Amino acid sequence: MFISVIRFRIMNRIFRPLSRRTVPFLLCFPFFLCVLLSLAGCSEKKPPTPPTPPKNILIVLLDAASAKHFSEWGYARDTAPNLRKLAREGTLFLNAHSQAANTTPSVWSFFTGRYPYIPGPGYTTHHFAENDATMAEAFHAAGFRTGAVSENPWINSDYGWAKGFDHFKNVLSLYNPVQEKWSRDPASSQRVIDRAQEWIAQQGDARWFCYVHLLRPHDPYDPPARFARRFGEGLRPADHPRAEDKIRIAANADPASITRDDREYMTGLYDANLRYADSLIGEFMEWLEKSGLRENTLVIFMADHGDAFMEHGVFGHNTTVYEEVTNVPLVVLAPKSAGFAKGRRTDLVDLVDLLPTFSELFGLKPESATPGKSFLPALRGQTLPADAPAPSISQSAYDHYRFSLRRGPLKFIGAVDPEWRRIESVELYDLSKDPLEKNNLAENAKLLAPLRAEAEKFLSGAEHRDTANDPVLSPDDEERLKSIGYLGN
Ligand SMILES: [Zn+2]
Repeated sequence: MFISVIRFRIMNRIFRPLSRRTVPFLLCFPFFLCVLLSLAGCSEKKPPTPPTPPKNILIVLLDAASAKHFSEWGYARDTAPNLRKLAREGTLFLNAHSQAANTTPSVWSFFTGRYPYIPGPGYTTHHFAENDATMAEAFHAAGFRTGAVSENPWINSDYGWAKGFDHFKNVLSLYNPVQEKWSRDPASSQRVIDRAQEWIAQQGDARWFCYVHLLRPHDPYDPPARFARRFGEGLRPADHPRAEDKIRIAANADPASITRDDREYMTGLYDANLRYADSLIGEFMEWLEKSGLRENTLVIFMADHGDAFMEHGVFGHNTTVYEEVTNVPLVVLAPKSAGFAKGRRTDLVDLVDLLPTFSELFGLKPESATPGKSFLPALRGQTLPADAPAPSISQSAYDHYRFSLRRGPLKFIGAVDPEWRRIESVELYDLSKDPLEKNNLAENAKLLAPLRAEAEKFLSGAEHRDTANDPVLSPDDEERLKSIGYLGN
C-alpha cells in the first residue's frame, strides 16, 4: 500500500504538469515542426516541375488569311469562332508579319529563317535550293518524323518543297472538263485535313513535325453554300459564278470603277471562305483532342500573307506591302507542361522568327545562322527586347518592286528599281496614329532618316537569287496556276 502511494505521488508529479501544460504543447509539436522545416526550406512539398518542350509540333497555315478579318483584330463579322476560342486558350500575336506578299517567298522564308531573295524573273517559282537548310530538315535531324500536306499547287513536292520531309502529300486542284479550266475541287480542303490526320495517326509513339498548308481563304472565293449564305450569297450574280474574276480585272484596269457593292461582294465571299477554313480548324482540333495528342503537341495557326480589298486600290495580294497584306494571324497553343503564358501579345514578331524560336524551344541545330530572333521569352510571359535585332521586312512580288520595314510604330515602304539596287520612292506611316496607312509622313525628314538608313542597309546586303534552276512550267501548270489567281494577278 505504501509503495503504491509513493508510486502514485511520483507518477502524479510526472504526469500532472504534462497533462495541464505539456500535453497541448506535445500535440502541437508536429505542426510547429512542419512550420519550422518549411521556413528552413526542408518541406516535403515537391518543387515546381520545370517546363518541358512539347513532344510534337503541328503548323496549320491558312493561305492569304489577313489578320484584319479576324474579330481579335476588331473585325465585326464572326469569321473564325474556332480560332478565337483557341487564341484565348493560347498565345495570340497581334503584330506578326509575313516576309513576302505572296506564297512561295513567304513559305521559303519561314522554312529557312531567312529573308526572301530579292526577286528576279521567275520570282513566283521560289523554291528550296539544294543548299537551303530548312526547318523540316532541322526537325528531322533532331529525331522528329516529318510530314506535310499541301493544297497550294505552288507548295508542291514537284517543285522541290519536300526537302527535309519524310512524307509530302500534294492535294491539288482538279481540271474541270465542263468549264475547260483548272478549278478548285470543292472537297480539297477537307482532304488536306483528312490526309494530315491519317499521317499523324500512323506515327504511333514517334515524335513528329507536321506542316499543313490549306489554300483557303485564298481565291477563288468559293466557300461551300452553307458558308456563302452567311456573309453574302445574295450578292453573287447567278449567271456569273466566277464574277470575282471580272471584278479583279476591272479593278486592275480602273480602280475607280469598283463600286461599294463590288467590294462588299468580294469581302463577303472571302469572309465566308475564311469561316469555312475555320470550321476545318475546329474539326482538326477536336480530332487532336480525341486522339489524346493535344496534351503533347505544340500547335501553330498562321498565314503566309493576307489579302487586300481595295484599301489601297487593289484586290488580292502580291503587289503591295500594306498591313492588310503583311499583318498575319499567329496563334501558339501549347500543352500546360510547356509553361507558356496565355494571352494577347503586341510584340512585333516576324514569321522569320519561327525557326529561331523552335530552335531554342526544341534544341534544334539549324545548319546556318539566321537573322530572326527567338520569341520564346514572349511565350513564357516575359518582355522581348524593345530594340529587336532584326527589322520586320516584307516584300511584294511580280513587277511591283516594294518592300516595307517596321521599327516600333513606324513603317517605311520603299519602291525600288527592277534590279533591287536603289530606292526610288518612299512612304512612311505611324501605325499607332494611322493604322490604315493613309497619312504619308515621308516629308518628315527627321522621322524618315533612321528607317531609310536601315532600309538602304537591308537592300545592300540582300541576297539576289539565281533563277537558272527554276522549274519550267508546262502550259497545263500555267493554266492551273492562273485559274487560282497566280501568274500576273
Ligand atoms: Zn499564299
